[in-house]
Amino acid sequence: MMLFLLLIGIPMIIALIAQAKVSSAFGKWKNVAASSGVTGAQAAREILTAANIHDVDVVEINDMLGDHYDPAQKRLCLSSDVFRTPSVAALGIAAHECGHAIQDAKAYAPLQWRMAVVPSTMIVSRILPFVVLGGFFIPFLFRELIMVAAICYGILSIFQFITLPVEFDASRRAKIILGRMGLVQPGAETAGVNNVLDSAALTYLAAFVAVLGQLLYYVLLLTGGSRR
Ligand SMILES: [Zn+2]
Repeated sequence: MMLFLLLIGIPMIIALIAQAKVSSAFGKWKNVAASSGVTGAQAAREILTAANIHDVDVVEINDMLGDHYDPAQKRLCLSSDVFRTPSVAALGIAAHECGHAIQDAKAYAPLQWRMAVVPSTMIVSRILPFVVLGGFFIPFLFRELIMVAAICYGILSIFQFITLPVEFDASRRAKIILGRMGLVQPGAETAGVNNVLDSAALTYLAAFVAVLGQLLYYVLLLTGGSRR
């Protein structure tokens, strides 16, 4: 029980705090207009053009904070709040997603590793709920199912670990580009972008800690670390 609280409960609380920080940073800076007056969609197109990337579509999606770059489809998907508003938060997020498109164009190695692991994580997230439930309901398979769960969390840990350099690098590129292209002014606007992107970085760190905690939990169950 102590082990469960320590390895699963605490990371879960950290993840919730990180998520709350992102929501509050986004909530604050989506209402502050950048003096450049450029929307997230316009900024994304300008940044991509400046980076000599012409095969990526910038599209609007109806999923709040679901902004992402899809390397397979060459699509930069921005939520309506980001796509349509000229806010400091919108510019930060749009530029961050452009950072991923630039990584893709430059064949940035961690992005390629991440893409290579994606199919396994999709299988894992499909089977994991059944594995964990099965552990409760099929006692004679308990050990085998715990082992499968440990392997699943091992794969997820690798994925979340590779995600860290990919995300940190995209934000680093975004901050440089926004300043250099004059889309965001030094001072409060730049501080706002940093606030939004740094809190987002924290959620990725929290996600890694969370899966690592799960992995350790199942490994310790297997090796009998929970027996007192
Ligand atoms: Zn990202």
